[in-house]
Amino acid sequence: MEFCPKCGALLMPGEDEEGKLVLRCKSCGYVKKVDKNELENTYRITHRITHGPHDEMIVVKEEVRTLPIAKVKCPKCGNDRAYYWQLQTRRADEAMTTFYKCVKCGHTWRKY
Ligand SMILES: [Zn+2]
Ligand SMILES: [Zn+2]
Repeated sequence: MEFCPKCGALLMPGEDEEGKLVLRCKSCGYVKKVDKNELENTYRITHRITHGPHDEMIVVKEEVRTLPIAKVKCPKCGNDRAYYWQLQTRRADEAMTTFYKCVKCGHTWRKY
């Protein structure tokens, strides 16, 4: 998590005009360039998801291993460990949505 040095709002991952990874403040428009290699693991997933055609539920298989694991029960196979990530969908003032992906069967679901 990084915060805007100007207004203190949360910086969200995005792209600049050249398609490079940046952190952008949604409140004041401040843009921070980031070291891609350094922050890739943290931001790539969210980055990909927010640019997906339907803005959610898109997980690239080989990137999932960088996600943290939570103790939650998979509704499909009953396994109690799943990768999780959070995503702010659509409007900035909406709450973060938590997504889970079962480590065993790969089933993906969201917590409302
Ligand atoms: Zn700001
Ligand atoms: Zn499962």
